Amino acid sequence: MRQSQLFTKTQKTAPKDEVAQNAQLLTRGGFIYKNSAGVYSYLPLGWRVIRNISQIAREEMDAIGGQEMLMSALHDKHYLQATGRWGVDVVYKVIAGGDKEPGFNISWTHEEILAEIAARYVNSYKDLPFAAYQIQTKFRHEPRAKSGLLRGREFLMKDLYSFHVSEEDLYRYYDRVADAYKKVFTRCGLKAYYTLAAGGDFTVSNTHEFQVESSVGEDTVYVCGKCEYAENNEISRLREGSACPKCGGAMREIKAIEVGNIFPLGAKYSKAFGLAFTDEKGEKKDVVMGSYGIGISRLMGTIVEIYHDEKGIIWPDAIAPFTAHLLALNGANGDAVYDALQKAGVNVLYDDREATPGEKFADADLIGIPWRLVVSPKVGEGKVELKRRAEKESRILGMEEVLAAVKQ
Ligand code: ATP
Ligand code: MG
Repeated sequence: MRQSQLFTKTQKTAPKDEVAQNAQLLTRGGFIYKNSAGVYSYLPLGWRVIRNISQIAREEMDAIGGQEMLMSALHDKHYLQATGRWGVDVVYKVIAGGDKEPGFNISWTHEEILAEIAARYVNSYKDLPFAAYQIQTKFRHEPRAKSGLLRGREFLMKDLYSFHVSEEDLYRYYDRVADAYKKVFTRCGLKAYYTLAAGGDFTVSNTHEFQVESSVGEDTVYVCGKCEYAENNEISRLREGSACPKCGGAMREIKAIEVGNIFPLGAKYSKAFGLAFTDEKGEKKDVVMGSYGIGISRLMGTIVEIYHDEKGIIWPDAIAPFTAHLLALNGANGDAVYDALQKAGVNVLYDDREATPGEKFADADLIGIPWRLVVSPKVGEGKVELKRRAEKESRILGMEEVLAAVKQ
């Protein structure tokens, strides 16, 4: 894409009302626009990032048999009333025109919705197990929405739900989801600790969170320095220096961002919606459910918190909005290089604007695309200066070598 056509522009200074690094950098780079506290729009560059993260989540959910779907965002009150969650404080309720009382809520999670849908299709043990997921907008009234994409009042979640004949079968699948989640976070360039945690508004059982170490994280987690066993402070009796209950190693206290959470739900939602099946002996039993969430937009914010320097964002290759950022400096024409890159299937942002080299370099560092390519009179006819965003050294290469480097 030609940068001269991009309708967004970069900003030199951070917006005054944003304190979080991720929000400052993403706003300055033209990735997101804040509509109100905790409510963001994804601009063309930001949406490319969201699509990359979503695609990674989608591939890993498909790989464990997840069936993608899209559920409604406007929920009649009978759903949450059936499970006693109509009163949960983060739920946004909606009053329809002419009504006095709220008759709906907007989506904050979907256990009730999918349990009711599943009840129509599940009759026998032969209909189980299955799992379905979506990537969809969630709304939660977060009192403190000051962390940019880390805590939105409106945010994107990948939520998966699974349905089983027994607890045993649920826990088998739960472990597979945990492995798939680890793959998602690794592919996003993040190290996430698998952490024993509480069930919140979802379940009385323990759950597992995926926690990424970061000084801006709101969670306190104890992680073993030796085997990486981890517990959330909310349920843990461990402290800094305690012996790890698994291996005896020393526990370390960290601040962390919760990027995912998986929940063994049991039959609470099935009971509320008559979601039952007949087993091999002809006995009627409740379906056992699990639910599993990844914060897609929180992941985007987390990646920026981890991958940036004083000049801007440094996107991991798999997440970056473009692979290459081509800058044409001092009157040089980059069209031939742009065409060659596009022919080779490289996603490229081409800075063809009339701007000074200083402005173009600053924007490239801010936007954070992994490969920077410069054509200029100084670099020379037919040559390209190639540099990784994360590195200092550049190389001057011919087009063949540039393509070989960028495409690997
Ligand atoms: P938190 O404890 O951070 O408020 P939660 O435990 O209430 O989150 P879950 O219901 O477990 O959140 O949601 C699944 C995932 O969705 C979380 O692991 C997180 O990555 C993401 N998420 C939850 N709330 C938000 C939010 N307000 N903004 C962005 N992402 C969120
Ligand atoms: Mg959680």
